[in-house]
Amino acid sequence: MLQTGLMMDRPLLLSGIIEHAAAQFGDVEVVARETHGPLFRYTYAQCAARSRRLANALAGLGLKPGDAVGSIAWNNQRHLEAYYAVSGSGMVMHTCNPRLHPQQLIYIINHAEDQVVLFDATFAPLVKGIAAHCPKVRAWVCLADSEHTPLIEGVANLAVYEELLAPCSDRFAWPEFDERTAAALCYTSGTTGNPKGALYSHRSIVLNAMTICIPGALNLSSLQTVLPVVPMFHINAWCIPYAAPMAGTKLVLPGPKLDGASLYELMESERVTISAGVPTIWQGMVAHVEQHGLQFSTMRMTATGGSAMPLSLIAKFADVYNVEVRHGWGMTETTAVATMGSLQGKHADWTPQQKHALVAKQGKSTFGVEIKVVDESGATLARDGVAQGELMVRGQWIVSAYYKGGQSPLVDGWFPTGDIATIDAEGVMQIRDRAKDVIKTGGEWISSIDLESAAAAHPAVAMAAVIGVKHPKWDERPLMFVVRKPGQDVTREELLVFLAERVAKWWVPDDVVFLDALPVGGTGKVQKADLRKQYGGVFS
Ligand code: AMP
Repeated sequence: MLQTGLMMDRPLLLSGIIEHAAAQFGDVEVVARETHGPLFRYTYAQCAARSRRLANALAGLGLKPGDAVGSIAWNNQRHLEAYYAVSGSGMVMHTCNPRLHPQQLIYIINHAEDQVVLFDATFAPLVKGIAAHCPKVRAWVCLADSEHTPLIEGVANLAVYEELLAPCSDRFAWPEFDERTAAALCYTSGTTGNPKGALYSHRSIVLNAMTICIPGALNLSSLQTVLPVVPMFHINAWCIPYAAPMAGTKLVLPGPKLDGASLYELMESERVTISAGVPTIWQGMVAHVEQHGLQFSTMRMTATGGSAMPLSLIAKFADVYNVEVRHGWGMTETTAVATMGSLQGKHADWTPQQKHALVAKQGKSTFGVEIKVVDESGATLARDGVAQGELMVRGQWIVSAYYKGGQSPLVDGWFPTGDIATIDAEGVMQIRDRAKDVIKTGGEWISSIDLESAAAAHPAVAMAAVIGVKHPKWDERPLMFVVRKPGQDVTREELLVFLAERVAKWWVPDDVVFLDALPVGGTGKVQKADLRKQYGGVFS
C-alpha cells in the first residue's frame, strides 16, 4: 500500500524568495537604471523591506487577495518590488507589454480586472490614451517620486509610488496560502484575435526559478552577476527576477536603455557575468562591440531565445568574445524556459563548428517538462532528429487553460505549441518553424529559420526574414527580406550565390527584397504577418 511521506508540507510561495534573499544574501546588490537616467542601487534586504511597504500601501488602497494589479514598466527596482509585494500578498501581478496595440492593452487590463496599474513615466502618454477606457482601475501609480511623475491630463486618479510608500511600515506578515494560488498573469502577444492570459501559480514560478539556477541552465549563484535584458513585462523576464534572489545573485536591471552601447557600458561597469535576451538585442550589442573594437571583460554567458539565434552569432560570441550562448525555448504559456541547450562533457573534443551547430538547436527539456512531436493525426513521431511535426509540451509550469478562456487548449494532457520541431535520439529539440511560417514547396517543407540563419552568416547582412509567397506551380516559394549592415553592400545575386553554397538548391529564395528595417513586434520577433500582408502576392 502506498504511504504518505512524513515531510512537512510547506507551500512554495514567492514571498519566501525575497525573504530568503533578505536573510541569506541581505547585502547582495540590486542595481537598476532609473527611467529618468541615473543608476540606482540597494540590497536585497532593502528590496524586501520596500516590498513589504508596498504590500502595506496596496492594502491601504483597499486591495484584497485575489485582486489584480497591472504594470506597464521597464526592468527596474520598483517593478521588482511590485513582483514580490503583489504576489506575496496573494494578489495577481499582471505584467502588461507596453508594445501591444493600445486597444489590446485596454482589452487585457479590463479582462484581468486590474484594480491598480503601476507604470513608468515613459508610458504616461500611453496611460493618457487608455485610462478612460479602463473603468475598473482605481489608481494609476507612476513608478517614481513626485519630481519625476508627469501630470497626465484627464487622469484624475493618478498617484505617485514614492508618496504611497512613504507613510507605510516595512513590517508586513506575508500571508500563507496554497502554493497553487495565482501569482502572476501575462497575456500572449497574439497577432490574430484577442491576447490570451497565462495565469502562473506560485508553485509554477518557484519551480521554474529553481530550475533555471542550475549550472546546466543559467548557472545562477552568489558568484555571478546577472543582467536580464528580457523584459519583466513579458513572461516574467524568464523568471530571472525570482531566480536571482533565490540564488543570491547580484541583479542588474537595464531600465529603458536597451541599445548596444548602454547595455555594454552597464555590463562592464557592474561586472555582469551572465545575461539573457532575445537575438535582436544581441545583434545590436555585437554590432556595437564590433564597431568599437571592444571585448567583454566579465560577461561569459548569455541565455537567448524568443526566436532562433543565428548560428553565425553563436559562433561570433564564442570564438571572438569568449561568451557561451545558452539557447532556450519557451513561450508565454510555459512560464519561462522549457528547453535549454548546453554542452556536455562528451562534447569536449568536438570542433568549434560542431559545438556551435549543437548550440543553435533549442536543447533538451528541463527537468519538470516533457516534450514530443506529433504528426497531423496526433501520432508521436520518432526521436530521430529528422521527423518533424508539432511540438507538444507538458509539465509543472505549462498552462492547463487560459484565464477566463473557456475550453482548455490541451490535447490528451499536452499543450500544442504551434511550433514545428524535431527531437533527436538524445532529446535535443530543434525548432524548424512556427507552423504558420513554414514554407511548403512542391510538397516539401522549407524552414524559414534555417534560411534566415544562413543569410545572417553573410558579413553584410544585419537581419534577414523569409516568408512563403504563393506560387502557381510549387504552391509556395521563399521570398527573403534583408537589412544590410550600415556601410555594407551586397546585391541580390551575390546573396543568392552565397545561399546556394549553404542550403539545398530548391531552398534558395526566388527573390530578395532589401529593406531599411524589418517590422519587429512587442517581444523582439519579426512580424512576418506584416511582411505577408505587404509582399505576400503571387510569384509568377
Ligand atoms: P511568446 O509567447 O511571445 O514568447 O512566443 C513564443 C514563441 O516564440 C514560441 O512558440 C516560438 O515560436 C518562438 N520561440 C521561442 N524561443 C525560440 C527559439 N529559441 N527559437 C525559435 N523560436 C523560438
